[in-house]
Amino acid sequence: MAVTGAERGSLTTAVRAASFLVFFVWFALTVLCAAGAPRASSEERATAQPSVAACRPADFRVVLDVGHTPEVPGAISAHGIPEYVFNMRLAADVKDALVKAGFARTVLLLTDTAPPRGLFERAASANRLDADLFIAIHHDSVPDYLLQTWEYAGHEEHFNDSFPGYAIFISDENADRAGSLAFGHLLGKALQAQGLAYTPHYTLPLMRHRRRQLVDAAAGVYRYDALVVLQRTRMPAVLLEAGSIINRTEELAMATPERRSRISAAMVAAVSEFCASRAAARHDHRIRRVAVPRATMHRRYGAR
Ligand SMILES: [Zn+2]
Repeated sequence: MAVTGAERGSLTTAVRAASFLVFFVWFALTVLCAAGAPRASSEERATAQPSVAACRPADFRVVLDVGHTPEVPGAISAHGIPEYVFNMRLAADVKDALVKAGFARTVLLLTDTAPPRGLFERAASANRLDADLFIAIHHDSVPDYLLQTWEYAGHEEHFNDSFPGYAIFISDENADRAGSLAFGHLLGKALQAQGLAYTPHYTLPLMRHRRRQLVDAAAGVYRYDALVVLQRTRMPAVLLEAGSIINRTEELAMATPERRSRISAAMVAAVSEFCASRAAARHDHRIRRVAVPRATMHRRYGAR
């Protein structure tokens, strides 16, 4: 068939249009494939997550700081017993429970150095031990101006029966304030699950310069920035006032193995949950570091 010049021209246009259509379809497919790729990898992520993100208790180090020293033993209870005795007994039970639960690297932190130097030493030791979590164990009292007097076993002792309950403190100056608050929340909720309640009295005007901001009203977590052991530690850190030993009834409860075992169970629950949440966060962080450059690559080169 003979082809005229005009026909040749329209044929060329038709070929060009067809090639453009082919190119357009290829281009659209390439873009769709590129857009589909990250979706597939996020599905792989979702299925891979549970095993990779699991808590490994044997690798997770908890430092239990036993508050005060034998020479400077902290508060004196309503029945005349030094706080250090309570701290030591509870910390030992908590350590046993954590080790039994698989947290075999848990250590008790003891020092003979009196404060304030001893407090800096405690934080430095926890940092050296590369702890994942720091928990200072204490028992509560009240300021001297709130003390009343009574006689017990022939001795004059002091008491205040008004403010039973635990209290948890974190410092906004800790290197991991968010982690400290997260663990404080878990611990408070775990103590409540064991039937214990926190004391709200740190918010009252009668506490004067010892008043604290209640940063987690559900769990009983207060802010106390200047506590050296919380301020100087480089890992999540809380201070637990496990209960009031200046309260005559609560002191007797705090002295029983039954109360210590409830607090230990709460510790195991809170530490286990915290360890799992840290493992999941580390896993997500790794995924983000890998996934971001890959996504950028798709954006830059996927449509070519
Ligand atoms: Zn104390």
